[in-house]
Amino acid sequence: MARPRGAKARATAVVALLKELYPVARCALQHSNAYELLVATILSAQTTDERVNLVTPELFRRYPGPQAFADADQGEIAKAIFQTGFYNQKARSLRGAALAVLERHGGKVPRRTEQLVRLPGVGRKTAAVVSGNAFGRREGIAVDTHVGRLSRRLGLTTETDPERAERDLMRIVPRSAWVEWSHLLIFHGRAVCSSRAPRCPECVLLDLCPEGQARVGRPARSRRTA
Ligand code: SF4
Repeated sequence: MARPRGAKARATAVVALLKELYPVARCALQHSNAYELLVATILSAQTTDERVNLVTPELFRRYPGPQAFADADQGEIAKAIFQTGFYNQKARSLRGAALAVLERHGGKVPRRTEQLVRLPGVGRKTAAVVSGNAFGRREGIAVDTHVGRLSRRLGLTTETDPERAERDLMRIVPRSAWVEWSHLLIFHGRAVCSSRAPRCPECVLLDLCPEGQARVGRPARSRRTA
């Protein structure tokens, strides 16, 4: 198979290769409903999914829905989520989002990105995660640190701002793979393409990856075919 040249073709090839490698790639934030996913995603800002998963079982037991968060003392919420960092700001967001879900959406998490981003503490990344994973809607691409880094290394965007990178990706990643794109790149970022020490020689994406080829010193004209 010839090495795909255009950005769209390369993005499509990335999806195919990573799906083969990570057939069970999915959202790593533990949740059992849309509200829990909303809460977990708000908490995931500036921390790891593992750290969020440490606090959410007890958090969801104590606050089993938007009404419980709205009724709660903000300081108590902050204590419960301390380990995720930025806990005062996140507690404010969780309470604000709960009130907004109750007042504007009858206690149900809205499905659409444009509604989700109007909730306190919810940006495009959180909206894309919730809309995509809880409701199966493909309205955006969640760009976290792994997704941004790998997309840049793969030459699919030059943007460091997540929203600008998302706009680039939405133009080239097949819409059917918008939700998977984030999961696949996060899995690959953790397993192979870490920030400090990407293992390019053993990477299945090497033939598609300008940065990987530069790192292994492969001349552009003699690149192998994928
Ligand atoms: Fe990352 Fe290297 Fe693979 Fe490119 S070739 S995706 S830089 S590990």
